[in-house]
Amino acid sequence: MITGKNIIGNSLSAKGSKSYKTFNPIKNEENPQEFWEASSEEIDRAVELASSAFEEYRNASGKDKAEFLRAITKEISALGDDLVQMYCLESGLPQGRAEGERGRTINQLIAFADLVEEGSWVEASIDTAIPDRTPLPKSDIRKMNIPLGPVVVFGSSNFPFAFSTAGGDTASALAVGCPVIVKAHPMHSGTSEMVASAIIKAANKTGMPEGVFSNLNSSGIEVGQLLVSHPKIKAVGFTGSIKGGRALFDLAAKREEPIPVFAEMGSINPVVILPSALKEKSDEWATQYAGSINLGVGQFCTNPGLILGIESNELSDFTQKLGSQLTSLDQGSMLHPNIHSSYQKGSDQISDQDEVLVVAENDGDSKPNFADQKLVSVKGSSFLKNKNLHREIFGPFSMIVQCKDESELLDIIKNLEGQLTGTVLGSDKEVKDYSSIIDALQNRVGRIIFNGVPTGVEVCPSMMHGGPYPASSDSRYTAVGTHAIARWVRPFAYQDWPNESLPPELQDGNPLGIERLVNGKASRK
Ligand code: NAP
Repeated sequence: MITGKNIIGNSLSAKGSKSYKTFNPIKNEENPQEFWEASSEEIDRAVELASSAFEEYRNASGKDKAEFLRAITKEISALGDDLVQMYCLESGLPQGRAEGERGRTINQLIAFADLVEEGSWVEASIDTAIPDRTPLPKSDIRKMNIPLGPVVVFGSSNFPFAFSTAGGDTASALAVGCPVIVKAHPMHSGTSEMVASAIIKAANKTGMPEGVFSNLNSSGIEVGQLLVSHPKIKAVGFTGSIKGGRALFDLAAKREEPIPVFAEMGSINPVVILPSALKEKSDEWATQYAGSINLGVGQFCTNPGLILGIESNELSDFTQKLGSQLTSLDQGSMLHPNIHSSYQKGSDQISDQDEVLVVAENDGDSKPNFADQKLVSVKGSSFLKNKNLHREIFGPFSMIVQCKDESELLDIIKNLEGQLTGTVLGSDKEVKDYSSIIDALQNRVGRIIFNGVPTGVEVCPSMMHGGPYPASSDSRYTAVGTHAIARWVRPFAYQDWPNESLPPELQDGNPLGIERLVNGKASRK
């Protein structure tokens, strides 16, 4: 079923000389299938096809694009257990996680299908002419969002379905009329090939132009760099490390025509635990947080890697409870030996520092690629001084910071890098009493959570999954939820244009019945 070849439009292609294999972290051995990295000629072919597909696809109706997205869900479902098995084989993640993530991926595609079919996403705005206005007549101006052009999506390592080949970036870009070239993550190239073949089948069944989607293999950074540098690529979606995201952002900015790179990168997701939570719900929070830190073997962008509290006996008790709960949980296999070794190295580098106390850790006697959970603790003053303690440790790791008082806690929050999420555990009254803390937190994060855990990102229109740099490269946009489409469009205005030549979204009489802003008032008329 798997060929190991690149999927370029409707063709399979393996013209490159470099090949590689994926890895089964549970068995600690390479998977047998060989994959061929895309050559520069193949990259060029995929981009040329995407660019010519854009000429037609940019004008596809909402109904036709919705049909395409829904057809993708059917083709993915038709892959059945074979796809789930491939996911597990290449990631070491359990079957239940694979099935859950597949469901989420399908629901995302359906949400974007519904959105574009309904049509109001274009944010049509109409200001009609006032020919007799003095001293100058007013023109008729009509504006709506249009697609940017071919987009490159980098598959993530930690979500082989939901943030990869047919994941949120691809679904949102296809929804607005942008062809997509996926740079498959090398750790799960087989999963990517299977999902890509489902997308191609759906494209052909629904009459989409060849080149609307391609899937390229790579085992190094060159393929991604050539794609981002290609003059016919107009935007980039990325999920991964700060180093990788920043390198691509810089590369895109240096192009003759700079393009946007929407990179979702590192985050340690600070949690502020206030006195009432420590007094009244310490056991409950210790159990919930142990589960959240260990969820997905800690390989989540919303993993709670930093817990901030004010020194007290209750905070010390909570720290001990959390440590023992965390290390009592089952260990899990990480996605790849490289991710496992950078986790072990990163967590050791933190705990080897003099000012850091190891609260609890597993004995290191686990199976290959299985991660040892670890909880460490540090004084607020040390955390403030040592920026090395602020970086993301991707895995089942967290750090408790014992602040001397509220003012030190505030100082720490103000000195944090940008984050995807911030969480507050406490009472309704404390939200008011600690308003300066909450205010400072809001300034550092994209989403704030009250009495919950940051892991588990709901896919809905109000979700914000992004945050000040380096959580994401542009804090104005979300990577999750239907507003993720805003990354792939630009506003475009027509002035005094003949009505019958306007797109239906902007025509008099509103033939599509969408929500529009007409002379400053929302209307479906
Ligand atoms: P990564 O190293 O950032 O790689 C992600 C993708 O970007 C890969 O396809 C990689 O290509 C490509 N890439 C990386 N650097 C590049 C560059 N300079 N130029 C062009 N392409 C580049 O992330 P990863 O492989 O997913 O995992 C490594 C580490 O990233 C993890 O241990 C973790 O620390 C972090 N990470 C964080 C999150 C998060 O959500 N916060 C998610 C995933 C990973 P190749 O692999 O082909 O080289």
